Amino acid sequence: MSTSCSTSDHSRGQADALGLYVHVPFCETKCPYCDFNTYERIEHLIPAYVRALSIEISTWAALLGRPEVDTVFFGGGTPSYLPERHLADLMNTIRDAFSLSSSAEITLEANPGDAAPRRLDAYREAGFNRLSIGVQSLDDRLLALLGRRHDARQAVDALAAAIAAGFRNTSIDLIYGLPHQSIDDWRRTLDKAVGLGPPHVSMYALTLEDETPMARWAASGRLPTPDPDLAADMYEAAEETAAAAGYHRYEISNWARPGFESRHNLRYWRNETYLGVGPGAHSHLAGHRFSNLRSPRTYVKRMSAQPREHSLERPVEEAITAVPVVESVQKVDADLEMSETMMMGLRLDDGIAVEEFTRRFGRPPADFYGGQIDELGSLDLLDPSDGRLRLTDRGRLLGNEVFARFLLPAR
Ligand code: SF4
Repeated sequence: MSTSCSTSDHSRGQADALGLYVHVPFCETKCPYCDFNTYERIEHLIPAYVRALSIEISTWAALLGRPEVDTVFFGGGTPSYLPERHLADLMNTIRDAFSLSSSAEITLEANPGDAAPRRLDAYREAGFNRLSIGVQSLDDRLLALLGRRHDARQAVDALAAAIAAGFRNTSIDLIYGLPHQSIDDWRRTLDKAVGLGPPHVSMYALTLEDETPMARWAASGRLPTPDPDLAADMYEAAEETAAAAGYHRYEISNWARPGFESRHNLRYWRNETYLGVGPGAHSHLAGHRFSNLRSPRTYVKRMSAQPREHSLERPVEEAITAVPVVESVQKVDADLEMSETMMMGLRLDDGIAVEEFTRRFGRPPADFYGGQIDELGSLDLLDPSDGRLRLTDRGRLLGNEVFARFLLPAR
């Protein structure tokens, strides 16, 4: 079976407007489980960083012909660690540089300690209309273990203050499968969390990433290693509690009340286009995936040497490599785009619509992945009914094994 698509137009199936991810690589302290591209004790770089980021934003907007942006996501790191005036400046730069949709979803990730009423008002004035609060747990003992700077009370107060400040669209993050966390501990956090009523909740199992202090503590026996069976039970408890409280799971790790799904993150799972700015940020644009260099210091140096306005004359494919902080570029051919569409789309509870896939790639998924679909169906990992391909409950628990089967199309 040939794996080629009927057309080489790789923009099909992708929304016209762009999603913009803005990376903020600063944290007051680095949590011992975190392997994100973020750093403590480099606050002296903040003013130069904000200037460099503004140059990168303006450069891309000029190169792309000032496209419409309809989702913006400030992630990190801790975006709320930036002084309010810098957040406002960056939002002004985005508004000046791009055509920002009046209905854009504009998310700021915030730590509970950065949710004082004065700051929340400043976030709203800057234009943010969605606040994603890094709660992680509502158990003080476990928050201390995670090295978080807040306690459960502060997290609860932060959400209440956000709602009082007018943020209708809020989200909280929780982590489960923690060392020394029992299923009852987790159920208590779950009950409290849904009781707070944020319209969106993200819940992730702790993974011990290489080179993090927590991974070293586990390797040396100072901490117990996560128990995958217990984590699976906790995942089921999460779904039960969230469903009973009126949330629907729309992605493996994300639950929302209807209409409050993260529009920005849906772009990733639907394999649509987005631009990432800042050190280490990833982009998927014009048939390419590319990422920026990771060092904030080098990023500032290189971006600051860039003229603010860039020639509009070159094709986007060439422009990608002309931006001085872009470090690695991969062309997304039809096979890769299809493979990524399968792997990411299966994360969604709605899965992949066969009709949509066929429109995007010229032929139905079974023409490319018939063997995998049959096999995964017979193992009760994939449900290919109702014109969709979806993970089963069992498939959701073994998601990585399912995704791996679509790494490349069948030859
Ligand atoms: S606050 Fe978030 S981004 Fe910063 S170190 Fe902790 S987990 Fe990582």
